[in-house]
Amino acid sequence: MNITHKKILITGGAGFIGSNLCEYFLSHENKVICLDNFATGHHHNIKPFLTNPNFKLIEGDIRNLETCRNAVEGVDFVLHQAALGSVPRSLIDPLTTNEVNVSGFLNMLIASSDAQVKRFIYAASSSTYGDSVELPKVEDFIGKPLSPYAITKYVNELYASIFNSAYGLETIGLRYFNVFGKNQDPNGAYAAVIPKFVMQFINHESPVINGDGMFSRDFTYINNVVQMNEKALLTTNPEAINTIYNTAFGDRTTLLDLINYIKEFLTKFDPAIANVEVLHGPNRAGDISHSWASIDKAKKLLEYNPKYSLQEGLSEAISWYWENLKK
Ligand code: NAD
Repeated sequence: MNITHKKILITGGAGFIGSNLCEYFLSHENKVICLDNFATGHHHNIKPFLTNPNFKLIEGDIRNLETCRNAVEGVDFVLHQAALGSVPRSLIDPLTTNEVNVSGFLNMLIASSDAQVKRFIYAASSSTYGDSVELPKVEDFIGKPLSPYAITKYVNELYASIFNSAYGLETIGLRYFNVFGKNQDPNGAYAAVIPKFVMQFINHESPVINGDGMFSRDFTYINNVVQMNEKALLTTNPEAINTIYNTAFGDRTTLLDLINYIKEFLTKFDPAIANVEVLHGPNRAGDISHSWASIDKAKKLLEYNPKYSLQEGLSEAISWYWENLKK
């Protein structure tokens, strides 16, 4: 079953995850509104949709309540992705991260609740597990936050829960685990590891791994994340609503293995990449050593069934990066 013929607001729709959600829901005959201030998103991510009569772009900031109110008018569902990502960014500028991720989030909740939006699905984060060393991560057991970013994402969960109990807004939080795929920005100081490494290999530059490379992550292909968002919209099970879910593949891979996969896949396009050396740098502040999700809750309550393993996702993503980054 798919979501069709609905009006969906996607905040952060010009960003990596948001633009993939826009593409998917447009392809299933929904009307999609994208609210974005292009702080980290890009016009090129949404360019293909600009001529689609079912797509509307609102260039605006979630820190402005009136902008949020305008954006939610007549909307069935909200998929709230807009935020300032990145643990290091939040350590350098906690104030702006808080304004966007907490005050902006609160604006979106108020606007959605007042407009009687049917359901508010939002991007939560695996960073909420903080210093917990338990593996795999299970939704109910979190540790102490390790960064301002992690605090903001946990505060989102707390606010969402209150907006359900106090105002009856249906909410579902999706704790994303290291998402990757097309449209993920490889540039800038806060780029995620996969697009950054891919771009460096393509340019025959040595990627630098933080630490010994034995850190592990549950790398999650974007198509699995899109599926989770749709499952969260589709569910009619009251037990499945007003809660949070790990959104991941449910496996873990070390940074060292990841970089070897990337190198191997890219060598098919350019054999010289086999000779690019990998370097090691210092560990990074605010990083957790291991991250691996239990996805049992989402499987049970949402019938989530991730189709793409890391290798399957990487194979698709790297073909896309090769076409788009080598220019
Ligand atoms: P992204 O930076 O590509 O997308 C975020 C989008 O939000 C951008 O288009 C940006 O311009 C927009 N935005 C930022 N501030 C805004 C504001 N004040 N008003 C309106 N729009 C604003 O990041 P992403 O990777 O696509 O992340 C999407 C969401 O998922 C974020 O909430 C992020 O915290 C969360 N998340 C992502 C990951 C991941 O692995 N990518 C992991 C955990 C959580």
